[in-house]
Amino acid sequence: MNLLKYRVAQFVSAANLVSRRDKQNSRRVLMYHSVVKNTDLAMQKSDIYAISETYFNSHVNVLARQNNSAPDKVVSLEDSYSAGVSITFDDGYKDTLTIAAPLLCKNNLSFHVFVTPANVISGDGKYLSEAELTTLSKLPGVTIGAHGFSHRHLNSLHETEIIEELTSSKQWLENLTQKAVTTMSYPHGAFNSQVKEIASSVGYLYAATSSWGRYQVGTEPLEIPRIDVWNLDNQKALKQKLNGQWDWIGKSLSPLQETSKQ
Ligand SMILES: [Zn+2]
Repeated sequence: MNLLKYRVAQFVSAANLVSRRDKQNSRRVLMYHSVVKNTDLAMQKSDIYAISETYFNSHVNVLARQNNSAPDKVVSLEDSYSAGVSITFDDGYKDTLTIAAPLLCKNNLSFHVFVTPANVISGDGKYLSEAELTTLSKLPGVTIGAHGFSHRHLNSLHETEIIEELTSSKQWLENLTQKAVTTMSYPHGAFNSQVKEIASSVGYLYAATSSWGRYQVGTEPLEIPRIDVWNLDNQKALKQKLNGQWDWIGKSLSPLQETSKQ
């Protein structure tokens, strides 16, 4: 999404009124990826999923302020259904530990990190190392979940490959963190009924998708929709997204999601 399209979308969203009842009867699950240093302008401009530290900090301020009131409280993805907000990060970027975690922990905000073991093993410096992932897993309020073993489109694999991706990622993360891993997010948001069935049979209780939407009564625990957070989302945009004012855009996102890394 380029800047012009984003501004148009922001304009439409600002004018979009949402009923109070809709807001109070659903939870928002935020999907972050990378949070980059303010000096890393090239990343912020080129990658829709690389938000600046300044914008992220402004989001944390909103979430911390509203954490005191019941309908907007920050809750774990695994908490039984209630309204509120859950915070998630995909892929296992190093900056989840170095930039995002300190801000969230300082404000007692819990969050999930869905990690792809192959990213960790790759040795690529933009991802968490094994030692860093272990450190992250021990922070208060942090839950580590899986994100496939090698970030493949699970809905395009054979049954044995799906089982392999879902079990090996779970076991690898459990061995490293010494904690049960019962949550995951689908790489590229790609899943189907077979993937969900296998996820359930190998021990996942909750799985987040990349489909835009609300988590509400009746939502399947292995098909939890989320709200995309982008590099251009300032504090105002986050408030609008939490309010449901950007929900109209969800249906037009699939082309973007097909080509993005997620
Ligand atoms: Zn991903």
